[in-house]
Amino acid sequence: MDLSIPQELTDFAAEVRAFIRAELPDDLREKVIGRRFDILSADEKRFWQRKMVAKGWGAPAWPVAYGGTDWDVLKRHTFNEVVADEGAPMPVPFGQGMLAPILIEFGSEEQRQHFLPRILNLEYFFCQGFSEPGSGSDLASLKTKAMRDGDDWVVSGQKMWTSYAHQANMMFCLVRTDPEAERPQQGISMLLIPMDDPGITVRPVITLDGEHHTNEVFLDDVRIPGANLVGEVNKGWTYAKALLGYERTEVARIGLSKRLIKMVKEAAAKRTVNGVPLTETPAFRRKLASLEIELKAVEMLNLRMLSNVRRNLPGNEANMLKIKGSELQQDLTELMMEAQGTDALRFDRDAALDQNIDLFGDVDYRGDVTANYLATRVVTIFSGSNEIQHNILAKELLDL
Ligand SMILES: Cc1cc2nc3c(=O)[nH]c(=O)nc-3n(C[C@H](O)[C@H](O)[C@H](O)COP(=O)(O)OP(=O)(O)OC[C@H]3O[C@@H](n4cnc5c(N)ncnc54)[C@H](O)[C@@H]3O)c2cc1C
Repeated sequence: MDLSIPQELTDFAAEVRAFIRAELPDDLREKVIGRRFDILSADEKRFWQRKMVAKGWGAPAWPVAYGGTDWDVLKRHTFNEVVADEGAPMPVPFGQGMLAPILIEFGSEEQRQHFLPRILNLEYFFCQGFSEPGSGSDLASLKTKAMRDGDDWVVSGQKMWTSYAHQANMMFCLVRTDPEAERPQQGISMLLIPMDDPGITVRPVITLDGEHHTNEVFLDDVRIPGANLVGEVNKGWTYAKALLGYERTEVARIGLSKRLIKMVKEAAAKRTVNGVPLTETPAFRRKLASLEIELKAVEMLNLRMLSNVRRNLPGNEANMLKIKGSELQQDLTELMMEAQGTDALRFDRDAALDQNIDLFGDVDYRGDVTANYLATRVVTIFSGSNEIQHNILAKELLDL
């Protein structure tokens, strides 16, 4: 097997790196690298996405006809890696990575013509309205209902954990359109809902890291034109399953884990234990090496999945990637805490401000490391918890 990297790819990586270094403002890079994984404003996300679109790199995985590229698996992988390594913002996943492939496969031509260009330049910033109180793992039990009224749909109910609903102006939403269906999965449809409807209320949910990533969304007689139904009525479960496959591949975040490994190494090289850098101590080296090996394995799995995606929909590699990729992120952020030692103190900005403490004075409080560690606890839960992924694999691969 030839594992050498072709010169053409090395040149391409250098081109992407040079472009990002020339175009990415320092403050944006700082926010992406130094802090939590997502505290950019919608305008900052839009600014960077439009730069990438102008360069022709806005949605590498899309077909060329819709503004994508003809890059092969390795080229896309290289691109994602450099983007993550350089601290450039990743594309907002909901529209580009999840909904767009569904519209391309199952949507009408009018929907593709209308939505895809607007998703590409982030004029439409989508959020994902799937989960509800009591309907997370058991998603098919969802209760938000949509009733026909002439050509329109009228939607009422509550969504839970709707990430970035406070930044989004559109939501792809699962709704119950046939409460009488024999199986709950058969009575679900997918609607595209504008967030500026007066019947929508968005309330923040603050997570462990003290940040506002996610929300609860209330829908009260929200009127949606019939043209905003994706595919066929009562077929939403089919689209949702395909969409979740795409979502699960996104959460592996291999580029991010590579950057984390680099950061762990830098931090551990600076910290000494009895005069010895942490990177030279056997126990720490063993942990680091074991995570690096795991990352390599996840990377290979990702490449296998990407090459399958080109031929068909993502298969069970997506479930495996979700499990291993998310565990790896958690282990790496934990090791980063270890490498920071007591500097990784809980960063309590409000308490510090109350007591008039100089936050960035003499002591290097790496509160961002702690916040990132806390924020990363969620990755084994969202996109379908890891326990559920194990169940799916057991059922589909082992026939249990
Ligand atoms: C920060 C955050 C952001 C999110 N963002 C979004 C979003 O943007 N859009 C969206 O639609 N959803 C989002 N989610 C929701 C997420 O997908 C759900 O939280 C997840 O599917 C789990 O559902 P639940 O919270 O209802 O937990 P439950 O389903 O109640 O599960 C509780 C525990 O029981 C376990 N469990 C449940 N059923 C089984 C079973 N059959 N076998 C074994 N174990 C089981 C689970 O693994 C879990 O550990 C987000 C969640 C969080 C926390």
